[in-house]
Amino acid sequence: METLSTNGKPVILIVDDIPVNIQLIQSYLAVAGYQTVVAQNGEEAIFRVRESLPDLILLDVMMPKMNGLDTCRILKQSKQTQHIPIIMVTALNELDDKIRGIEAGADDFISKPFNRLELLARVKSLLRLKFYHDQLQEKLRLLEQAKEQLRTLAVTDGLTNVYNYRYFREYLGQEFRRAERHKLVVSLVMMDIDFFKNYNDTHGHLAGDDVLRQVAQLMKKNTRSIDVVARYGGEEFVLVLPETNKSAAKIVAEKVRMLIETQAFPHKPKQANGHLTVSMGVATFPDDAKTSDGLIQCADQRLYRAKAEGRNRVVDQ
Ligand code: GH3
Ligand code: MG
Ligand code: MG
Repeated sequence: METLSTNGKPVILIVDDIPVNIQLIQSYLAVAGYQTVVAQNGEEAIFRVRESLPDLILLDVMMPKMNGLDTCRILKQSKQTQHIPIIMVTALNELDDKIRGIEAGADDFISKPFNRLELLARVKSLLRLKFYHDQLQEKLRLLEQAKEQLRTLAVTDGLTNVYNYRYFREYLGQEFRRAERHKLVVSLVMMDIDFFKNYNDTHGHLAGDDVLRQVAQLMKKNTRSIDVVARYGGEEFVLVLPETNKSAAKIVAEKVRMLIETQAFPHKPKQANGHLTVSMGVATFPDDAKTSDGLIQCADQRLYRAKAEGRNRVVDQ
């Protein structure tokens, strides 16, 4: 049999209050290779649809309590079920029934007593539509996923997996606007690895890359989830600490500086002084600068002072 379903046999829900009608349709569909689920009234139909997510529904119009039109309307109003094609099974070939069926959202009609071949042809044609719809949905899902991956890639540093410079600038600007609006503080820490050129020259760039990755992970692990860790470039990293004043930022910076000093990096014992260290500059809005460029400049100047004053230290004044 030609099946267009993505996951084996298409599943068809038959809704009718008269058991012999169900049996007849079921036997036609089973011979044609379809899987069937049944319901004897509208409420049960809605339950079965949510439970077994059929590919098609054959819905009798005349049923006690909730009739086929009301059932159809409910299924077509729900986001989870509106894409499932519905064939209305009407007693007579009445125009009025069809118009009301279309208004309720039905996709096709078949009149009782129906011809087996006509039933199968209508089923097949709507299943084909359902198949194309599912395929399209799957492609849209994959596209969304790819877009999400692209969005992540665009803001991520390829070597260290923390945010990149572009994201850092965007985020700092955004954080600044928020801080100005709500009268909040923001701190920025700029960090640069000490004598890193020497490390590369001695142990090679690949070992240097490992250090960059480890430093980035250490920074991430030891800051809050709302703090942003980014690679500013080369062997320089930044930390944006929202709602953090100078003294709290200094504590964070000191903690990271100390952890790096004591962390076991590859080849660390061979380093000239037995350590791999970093220098940092800390600046806080609004005390130190009124713009994000100004804050970067201030933190950068303090970082250079940390270098000049002997490295492996944090400067915040
Ligand atoms: P200082 O203590 O004054 O900061 O000295 P330094 O040697 O760290 O500073 P300098 O700016 O002279 O050298 C930075 C080094 O960082 C040079 C470069 O090879 C290295 N570097 C920059 N980006 C990367 C990278 O992606 N991977 C590796 N392995 N090294 C990098
Ligand atoms: Mg350096
Ligand atoms: Mg540098």
